Amino acid sequence: MNVLVVGGAGYIGSHMVRMLVQAGHHPVILDNLCDGHRASVSGQTLHVGELADRELLDRIFKSEGIDAVMHFAAFAQVGESVIDPAKYYVNNIMATLVLLEAMRDNGVTRFVFSSTCATYGEPQTIPIKESEPQLPVNPYGFTKLVIERALEDYAAAYGFAYAALRYFNAAGASPDGDIGEDHDPETHLIPIVLQVALGQRSHVTIFGDDYETPDGTCIRDYIHVDDLARAHLTALEKLQPGSGIRLNLGTGTGYSVREVINACRNISGREIPEVMGVRREGDPPRLIADSSAAKELLGWVPKYQSVEDVVQTAWAWHCQHPRGYHDGPDVQ
Ligand code: UDP
Repeated sequence: MNVLVVGGAGYIGSHMVRMLVQAGHHPVILDNLCDGHRASVSGQTLHVGELADRELLDRIFKSEGIDAVMHFAAFAQVGESVIDPAKYYVNNIMATLVLLEAMRDNGVTRFVFSSTCATYGEPQTIPIKESEPQLPVNPYGFTKLVIERALEDYAAAYGFAYAALRYFNAAGASPDGDIGEDHDPETHLIPIVLQVALGQRSHVTIFGDDYETPDGTCIRDYIHVDDLARAHLTALEKLQPGSGIRLNLGTGTGYSVREVINACRNISGREIPEVMGVRREGDPPRLIADSSAAKELLGWVPKYQSVEDVVQTAWAWHCQHPRGYHDGPDVQ
């Protein structure tokens, strides 16, 4: 299949592109490189442009003979979405609707969407099943929920075949250390902690230890980026016209912020100073996936089960690319 990967030069998108190639598909990337890196997809077809550029989308759909779309080009920081919600409403909703319109007009109805556990808000039941009410507590989660709802309606009315994959905390890097996480500024826990291990930061700030969890810090389910990509690939092959697949993707095991920092200490063998800070707005205390539906429907079982396994791959990437993609020859 010719698969348009929107946001394909970003963190999760670039791992997806690699996997599509390995599976014999032809990925076509659209990325504005605001967070993506040319070097993460070298050798692949890359269109640099905006998701909301309808003319560009039409050109790509026609010239590349696109059969299906995977969408990774959303803003995805909970804290930022609280401070600057307009950025999230405009990109995550408005630009995505432009993409869906372009798909409709070009007769493309297969769509795999990066959704999120943030659509559940503060769940009543842990681990979280797909049937849990979706009551997001931050603008990021809400913008993703809006698109999930639109997809449900587009499937019923226009025959869209979609999968909404609700990621828990994407983490890790390709095991060969070639591609990995490189955000500027970095906000995610594991890369920040590993930057401390590398001596690039003096310490990691823990965002609150007064949550109702055993050690007081927030608990998350860290899922390896290649495990996520594999679920997308299988979902793509299972899409059915007029219906949607909605699945949680996580390991089913939660780790507290303190446990993640300790895992990074164990893997890196480095000292990692920590400082206690205040809560970050919009952070639910515990998010752990029940992914049994993904196992049943896709036969999907995460290969990386423990956070140490995930951190190991991230550490390999950070050691080989201490300045991220700016170390490579293909700097952008
Ligand atoms: N976190 C932290 N210090 C940091 C970055 C993150 O304590 O410098 C915490 C954050 O509050 C959350 C967890 O680590 O409980 C994971 O945060 P991240 O931003 O990696 O992912 P999110 O859960 O927001 O998608």
